[in-house]
Amino acid sequence: MSQTPQGADWVIVGGGLCGLTAARYLRHGWQLFEAGSRPGGVARSVARQGHIFDQTGHWLHLRDRGMKRLVGGLLGDELVAVGRRSGIYSHGVHTRYPFQANLYGLPPAVVFECLQTFLDRKPPHRPGRRVRTFEDFILEHFGEGIARHFMIPYNARLWGVHPRDMTDAWCRRFVPLPSRDEVLAGAVGANLTEMGYNVRFLYPRQGGIERLPASLAEGLAGDRVHCNAPVERVDHLGHRVRVGGEWIGYRALVSTVPLPELCKMLAAPPKPVVRAAERLRWTSVRYLNVALSHRPPKDFHWIYVPQAKYPAYRVGVFSNASPGNAPARGASLYVELASRAHKRLDRQLGQVVPLLVESGAMRRPDDLKFATSECIDYAYVVFDRHYHRARRTLHSFFADHDIYPRGRYGSWDYGSMEDAMCEGREVAKLLRKRYKRTPDESSTS
Ligand SMILES: Cc1cc2nc3c(=O)[nH]c(=O)nc-3n(C[C@H](O)[C@H](O)[C@H](O)COP(=O)(O)OP(=O)(O)OC[C@H]3O[C@@H](n4cnc5c(N)ncnc54)[C@H](O)[C@@H]3O)c2cc1C
Repeated sequence: MSQTPQGADWVIVGGGLCGLTAARYLRHGWQLFEAGSRPGGVARSVARQGHIFDQTGHWLHLRDRGMKRLVGGLLGDELVAVGRRSGIYSHGVHTRYPFQANLYGLPPAVVFECLQTFLDRKPPHRPGRRVRTFEDFILEHFGEGIARHFMIPYNARLWGVHPRDMTDAWCRRFVPLPSRDEVLAGAVGANLTEMGYNVRFLYPRQGGIERLPASLAEGLAGDRVHCNAPVERVDHLGHRVRVGGEWIGYRALVSTVPLPELCKMLAAPPKPVVRAAERLRWTSVRYLNVALSHRPPKDFHWIYVPQAKYPAYRVGVFSNASPGNAPARGASLYVELASRAHKRLDRQLGQVVPLLVESGAMRRPDDLKFATSECIDYAYVVFDRHYHRARRTLHSFFADHDIYPRGRYGSWDYGSMEDAMCEGREVAKLLRKRYKRTPDESSTS
């Protein structure tokens, strides 16, 4: 950590995309504390023997005009636009993404079941239930066949929670809803439209997705970005944080650390805050980084694997999207594991390698150069029936004390990299307006 500051107008906790963007838009008067040895958060990458791995697939999609300008200015020609190549691997065949609009190629009995129940679907009748579950959403929009063969098993594996135990609060932007004609056309191989929010994405030519947070950090005053500097305590009444044993005062605090961790940092949280924090639920992601000596037979960027017999629910090939992520002729893969339990790497590989070979992500087992086992502790916020109330209680308590939890895990939401950056920009604008100094204060500060 560089020399500890005495105090700041704004203290930012966490140097992921949200914290870095907030610093950029605050311009002056901020100090940023990051627990890790370098900024980037979940958007950091690791490099080993010429292979570059992100923390599973991190593909950049930009919708916001300001963010397009900012990212374009930071990375310019370093970014390559890539047309998505993703699909589903199920029943021994590859089909196009999304499953619900591309049944063609699956065994005829599966296609028939999916189509028949799609055409006959009705909104599930749940007398007395106030909250619409994600399972209700699936059955209402897709029917039982698509639910059984893809939507339920895939999502249960991704979220680590059955869709009946989640609400549909997160999914409208992310789950494509094809029309009746698109489903029918997709069942006979005549669906020509690509669907979803990520049909095209951007990715750095070299260096992995970490080029994005790194370029943001390069534009900031280095002496105000403190790495290896975990915030240990937040004194919400005294408006100060403890870092490395020293207290640092602030006027407002932007926290991008996971909401449950922020609650744990409070010195004496009131009971409703403790209770709300206990209601928050999330899942981790366990995954493997896999380096291969040869390119895979298939050229997909990633595939979804819904069937329970396989040990992974998603497999991606970084180097198929960006050759710069692997040495010439080699490949860099990520494999997201269905089991959250810790297992020995050789055991995990014993299960995963057959799937990689079978699905065309790997030519043969001998191609394996090395693999590492990784975990993201806070990966997905779970949208269960307590979600909205608990989040509201916590956010309004923090706002009352000039603390602004933001970013994917501060907002406690399902957001993209762009969302995290937009939140950083918006909170900076809010603070500059809300905590504007009077001319007298400015001259004495
Ligand atoms: C598996 C997975 C795949 C994803 N894929 C995509 C994708 O393809 N495209 C996309 O756009 N988005 C994707 N995302 C989302 C994207 O990664 C996030 O939205 C974004 O990186 C979040 O940035 P953030 O700054 O909000 O949080 P973070 O990146 O979590 O940053 C928070 C920072 O706080 C630091 N910190 C924690 N505790 C402390 C402490 N006590 N003191 C100081 N610092 C602390 C952490 O070290 C971290 O650097 C994915 C996310 C996951 C989990």
